[in-house]
Amino acid sequence: MGSLFEDALKRVDEAAERLNLDENIYRILRKPKKQVIVSIPVEMDDGTIRVFDGYRVHYNVAMGPAKGGIRFHPNVTLDEVTTLAMWMTWKCAVVNIPFGGGKGGVAVDPHKLSVKELERLTRRYTAEIIDLIGPDVDVPAPDVNTNSQVMAWIVDTYSMHMRKTVTSVVTGKPIFLGGSRGRREATGRGIMFIAREAGRVYGLPLKNATVAVQGFGNVGSVAAKLIAMHGARVVALSDVNGGIYNENGIDVNAALRKVEETGTIVGLEGTTPITNEQLLELDVDFLIPAALENQITRENADKIKAKIIVEGANGPTTTEADKVLNERGVKVIPDILSNAGGVTVSYFEWVQDRDGYFWKESVVNDRLEEVMTDAFNDVYQMSKQHNVPMRLAAYMVAIKRVADITKARGIYA
Ligand code: GLU
Repeated sequence: MGSLFEDALKRVDEAAERLNLDENIYRILRKPKKQVIVSIPVEMDDGTIRVFDGYRVHYNVAMGPAKGGIRFHPNVTLDEVTTLAMWMTWKCAVVNIPFGGGKGGVAVDPHKLSVKELERLTRRYTAEIIDLIGPDVDVPAPDVNTNSQVMAWIVDTYSMHMRKTVTSVVTGKPIFLGGSRGRREATGRGIMFIAREAGRVYGLPLKNATVAVQGFGNVGSVAAKLIAMHGARVVALSDVNGGIYNENGIDVNAALRKVEETGTIVGLEGTTPITNEQLLELDVDFLIPAALENQITRENADKIKAKIIVEGANGPTTTEADKVLNERGVKVIPDILSNAGGVTVSYFEWVQDRDGYFWKESVVNDRLEEVMTDAFNDVYQMSKQHNVPMRLAAYMVAIKRVADITKARGIYA
């Protein structure tokens, strides 16, 4: 695999071309604004010191402070973080919230660290990027392998440096520390709204539809649960340890309990084991890849039998795979639209922190539904108007918004 960023830029180029974008503006949009690499020394419990590589990238901040998660994963690189920061830029623009795009990460396998080691790593990483973040400049959030506890440590570290408590420096916090009701479920809930809307326009209602979900983390597990609550039959699930299948439908709540007890869904009673590859190739109505990037590639794209793919992860489909899926008539609802529920409620959380006034969960969920359905309609209209697939349409909506703002602001010189 070459550069993820170079591959990702191909989609941006295509959208810019379709939009007939001003070349001068486009030169700005193709570049990350700021890329920072830090070394993070951590004293391990056995007294040895290890040094981890950390990153934070601001891709584009024309629309507002950089926004985007922090991931802890052994495969994190500057190339990956830059790509994810670019995707955050388009994601915030698709749902039209006043943020730019950012992302951070540390190359580490957090499952191999103790809780104390993880805390020290998080605090030192925060200290190393402290000049980059802040409620008006860059607001991190959870991503792969990070959660509300990690956000709480970041709030504390940042607040100690600022000599006052600043909760709005990150989102995805515990509710008692300025977090928003509904934030933890927001990405999965957004996916459910988007799957519902896609089902409506493509004549495949969620009720009685068959669904396979790859990934059972914060995104996949909630999406599976909410989609099942809407009457769909979740026939397959997977996590890092493997997949499970039952053609009559899996009880998602039982899968959640199984994870709590054993750490994995594998072996859930009444299911047969399948591989992650088999899951992706199942003959289902909806496929929701909600794990990591580059899952649907040139190698397996012609074997995908799902009618609609709703991307839960960031970047699960390569550009080469996109072409094959489009030719075969598979409808792909792109990540920057379908998983934007998380950052949308992050925006709500940031607003609530700054107001010091917190909303009921029903208010959060209703406003999320409105933002997601409006964004779906904007993208769907664009796709109809230009006769292009939903991914290209989403990029066109997003890039046009960022380009218009960039043009209006002009160049500081
Ligand atoms: N990490 C999530 C994403 O990729 C959420 C980012 C946020 O809430 O800022 O969209």
